Amino acid sequence: MSDVGDRATRGGSVIVSGGTRPGAALDRIRVRALAAALLAAGIFWIDSFTSFHSAIATLYLVVLLLAGPRLDRRQLVGWSLACAALTLTSFVVVHRDTPSTDAVLRLLVSLAANAVTTGLLLHRIVLDERVSREERRYATMTDTLAIAIWEHDFSPVADAVAALRACGVTDLRAYLRAHPEFVASIRRQVRITDVNQTALDMMGVPSKAAFFRRLGDFLPETDASFADCILAIDEQRPMFQAETQVIAADGSPIDIIVAFSLAPGTCLAHVPGSILDIRQRKRLETTVERTRIELERVQRSAAIGAMSASIAHEINQPISAVQSYADAAARWLARPEPDLEEVRLSLAGLNQAVANVHAVVQRVRSLVGGRAGEMARLGLGTLVADTLAVAARDLDVHGARIDFVPGGEPCVLGDPILLKHLLLNLITNALQAMDDAGVRDKRMDLTLHANDDHVLLLLRDHGPGLDPSITRPFETFATTKPGGMGLGLSICRSIVDLHDGRIALSNHPDGGALAVVELPLAA
Ligand code: ADP
Repeated sequence: MSDVGDRATRGGSVIVSGGTRPGAALDRIRVRALAAALLAAGIFWIDSFTSFHSAIATLYLVVLLLAGPRLDRRQLVGWSLACAALTLTSFVVVHRDTPSTDAVLRLLVSLAANAVTTGLLLHRIVLDERVSREERRYATMTDTLAIAIWEHDFSPVADAVAALRACGVTDLRAYLRAHPEFVASIRRQVRITDVNQTALDMMGVPSKAAFFRRLGDFLPETDASFADCILAIDEQRPMFQAETQVIAADGSPIDIIVAFSLAPGTCLAHVPGSILDIRQRKRLETTVERTRIELERVQRSAAIGAMSASIAHEINQPISAVQSYADAAARWLARPEPDLEEVRLSLAGLNQAVANVHAVVQRVRSLVGGRAGEMARLGLGTLVADTLAVAARDLDVHGARIDFVPGGEPCVLGDPILLKHLLLNLITNALQAMDDAGVRDKRMDLTLHANDDHVLLLLRDHGPGLDPSITRPFETFATTKPGGMGLGLSICRSIVDLHDGRIALSNHPDGGALAVVELPLAA
């Protein structure tokens, strides 16, 4: 943005404060033209009607210099031709009969001076035109920018700081902190010399002429950024950026980020600052924060829901054990001669089953909370054998069998109850799949493979394999069973995750489903 005074005389549209009246500039041009004309008349009279034998006509270049500035090309050429014509006229008047060589040389020198001066002035006009073209381009550019720009005159800051230093102030930062009234007073002195259209729209000001004249007019008293700005100017920091608030014309506060360059050589009288309206961003931040809190609440509710659903799913098996022990105890008691020893054994089993219920609830709670129970070094061969013993009754009832090929005793670091649950869930699924498909030979193959750092547990059934509608079987609530909850595999995945392992379920190329669990070997 160019000097406000300059812009006024060239007919620019922006004047925020100070500057020259266009009428006054016009008056000055007329006065100069009149003075130039009088000077030309004087030179002509001396050259034509006195016996002053010198190249007096060279003085016409002063006429051109006087009239030249602010003339356009045609006017300048007109003045130049007029001066040349006067020079020739005087020559003819004085040397009409016997022009001496001296006189001719003087004539040529005068005409050459006229031509050179005209050439230089024409060059200056070309340069001026180029500069004003660039200025117009710059003004159009800044006016059409989507970012607000206003130009500051920071010279009072430099003057005030210089005065402080002259008074012996060395620690400027401490001084500014101790004298907020000093900061406020300089803020009121900083002029705003230009603004672009976006700044007007942002501040709700109808025109550039009506824009705030001083920084203190729209920077609130509470602003803390200006003290830092003073330090930035004093230290000649290449860049100054601050987040603050300004007060719009209607009195509403606007959150902004202001940035400007203060590199050495910057003219402090014209420092354009870029201003970014961050109200939208602030609103967005508030919304994001509100959404985050909302989401946390929803996640908590979802976790509680998942926990309730998981408990309901996992508790079925121990609850039916409780039921059968209670039934058995009742049957022993109902005999004509109650067998109290059997009743005692049933009650002991019932006690154990109730403890199992507690253990399951405890495990599910830690599972949903993302925490493992007691991690211990476990031999997987033994763990699988124990699990198969637990599943034996169920397998019998369904007429199914599991062919287990033991693969040694690879050790993992794990929670035995969770890992047994994992295997039981996979066995239950395989059993249900074969039952539902009416498979007569219900077989499962269970294998353990250990390599350098992992152990693979593979369970293959001979059922129908995965239904094509189940694309993500481990996702919560994915089920194809009429009474299914779609939680078994999701719980399996949580258990495997807690053990830093991986689980996959796919169709075996020779039919049936194949579940693969990979767990890291214990060090
Ligand atoms: P649910 O047993 O309650 O349906 P799961 O998460 O245990 O929930 O299983 C999700 C779905 O994955 C089942 O409904 C079933 O369609 C499929 N699935 C799981 N295991 C097998 C398997 N061995 N064979 C075929 N499909 C299976």
